Amino acid sequence: MKMIDLRSDTVTRPTSGMLEAIAKAKVGDDVYGDDPTVIAFEAKVAELFGKEAGLFTATGSIANQLGIRSLIKPGEELLADERAHVVRAELGAAAVLSGVTTRTFHSPKARLNPDSAIALAHPNAGPYLVSTVAIAVENTHNFGGGVVQNIEAIERLHHLAAPLGIKLHLDGARIWNAHVASSVPFARYGACFETVSVCFSKGLGAPIGSMLLSTRERIEDARIWRKRFGGGMRQVGLLAAAADYGLTHHLARLATDHAHARKIAEAISAVDSRLVDLESVETNIVGIELQSTRSNASDFAKKLGEAGVLSGALGSHYLRLVTHGDLTSSDIDEATEVITTSLRAVL
Ligand SMILES: *Cc1c(COP(=O)(O)O)cnc(C)c1O
Repeated sequence: MKMIDLRSDTVTRPTSGMLEAIAKAKVGDDVYGDDPTVIAFEAKVAELFGKEAGLFTATGSIANQLGIRSLIKPGEELLADERAHVVRAELGAAAVLSGVTTRTFHSPKARLNPDSAIALAHPNAGPYLVSTVAIAVENTHNFGGGVVQNIEAIERLHHLAAPLGIKLHLDGARIWNAHVASSVPFARYGACFETVSVCFSKGLGAPIGSMLLSTRERIEDARIWRKRFGGGMRQVGLLAAAADYGLTHHLARLATDHAHARKIAEAISAVDSRLVDLESVETNIVGIELQSTRSNASDFAKKLGEAGVLSGALGSHYLRLVTHGDLTSSDIDEATEVITTSLRAVL
């Protein structure tokens, strides 16, 4: 049976154009600093965000963690919102790898509230309490259903944090989607954050690859830590070529992913408006809230799977659908039919 895979935007296969770009890439040993493709790509993405330098990494998690450890010493703290990927989905890496503790603030519907983030902060706390050194912002917000953070809220957080000596980290795994949905230039985001992580392996469709962006000094230090963590890679220009192809050819295409998600969400909302928060569907993620149904998320995901649609049960009653470049509009129509029919059966 043909499966329509809505589990994540990481499931895409490289396109033929991307495979051609990989085959043509000029490569060298990047641990020796010899790979021209990765060097050029790091400089290109850094410039896009108005940053001095970039470091290509295997995953978004290692890019986030290199950023966090560059900002925060052992025994100091990072603040993040309670559903942040760095808090929930990186398996305690900030604590395990860098001795960094974390506290979380509440973001209504995953939308950044700069004042509540700052209210929790305690910089230079002295010898008794933990000092807040950095705050992480996720854009778009994955477990918040792909919402785009308001640029004014980000700029206000930057404005409030800077005089306190608190630095900001952007988890920009899906900053591409935020940019396409909001038209905010990458450099405007970049100006607010000391460190930025981006992923090429999500909507842009690269098989592997992320990047940390920051000052030259921080990136030089992160390069050492990347190697220490076992993340130095050799002829990695093959992957940088794929990522560069994705950035060049697939960025504009994200608007189609967003339209597809919107279409699915509106059909679900027409079944029962309690099932989906339409206001939160701004990019390529649709969160289904199953509380008002007779099913939980894992049973419902199993049922969809039997009907040919793969989804992600991320909470007891929360199911996530993610659109991406390997889906055609007829895949979306088929999936919508399966999902709405299955929802009607459990209402
Ligand atoms: C996917 C993702 C990451 C990085 O995930 P990896 O699987 O480590 O590449 C980081 N942050 C967010 C918000 C993500 O969605």
